[in-house]
Amino acid sequence: MQVLLVEDDDSIAVPLVEGLARFGIVARHVTTGAGALAAPPVDLVLLDLGLPDIDGVDVCWELNRTRNVPIIMLTARRGEADLVRGLEGGADDYLAKPFSLRELVARIRAVDRRSRADAVARLTGSAQPGSAQPESAQPDIRTAGRLAIDRTTREVSVGGVPVPLAPKEYDLLDMLAARPGAVVLRQRLLEQVWATAEGRGRTLDFHIAALRRKLGDPAWIETRRGVGFRLVPLP
Ligand code: CA
Repeated sequence: MQVLLVEDDDSIAVPLVEGLARFGIVARHVTTGAGALAAPPVDLVLLDLGLPDIDGVDVCWELNRTRNVPIIMLTARRGEADLVRGLEGGADDYLAKPFSLRELVARIRAVDRRSRADAVARLTGSAQPGSAQPESAQPDIRTAGRLAIDRTTREVSVGGVPVPLAPKEYDLLDMLAARPGAVVLRQRLLEQVWATAEGRGRTLDFHIAALRRKLGDPAWIETRRGVGFRLVPLP
C-alpha cells in the first residue's frame, strides 16, 4: 500500500517513512500543502495540520473535494477547532502528536479497511447516503460487524439477537453506523438527535452509556475525548 505523508518537519517525517516501510507501507513524502495537492494518487493521506504554505485543514477540504482518498490528520494538539473542522471537511481520523508508529499503522489499516469496504458497497449498490438510489421496497439495512440496523422498522440486533432501544438511542446508533469506524463529532450527534448542542453534553454521554450497556459490550462505541465517538464493528 502507498501513502502520502504531508509533513514539513523532517525530524518527524524521515523516521516515519523508514518505520512505515518496515510494515510494508510505502510513504511518499512532501513538505507542503501545494505538494500534497499536486501529488500523484495514493491509497491514503497522512496530513500534518501545521504546514508552511496552506492551512492543513484547507488542504484536507481540497483533497476531499477533488479526490476520493482517505485522510488521517496528524495534529500537535493545537486546538480542537482545527480537528473538528478537519473531520467535518472529510478527514477519516486523526492522531495527536506524539504518537507511536504502532498506533499509526493500526489507524492506517483500520481506515484503509473501511474505505475498501465502502468502495465495495458502492460497487454492489448497497445503500449509501446521498447516492441516487431508486425508491424500492428493498429493506434498508446498516451493518457493522455483528450489528444490524433495519432502518425501515428501526429494529436493531447483535448476532441476530434483537436489542430494544429507546428512540434517541436508536438515532444515535444509526448516525454512528452510517460510517462504521469513522469518528462522529459530538456537535453533530447533538444537533441531529436533539436539534441543539446547547447544554446537552451530559445527556449525550448518558445515552451513549445506555447504548453500550444494551449492545452488551462497551467496546462497540469508542470515545474520542472532547471530539466525538466512533462505532467499532465488532466481529
Ligand atoms: Ca508541521
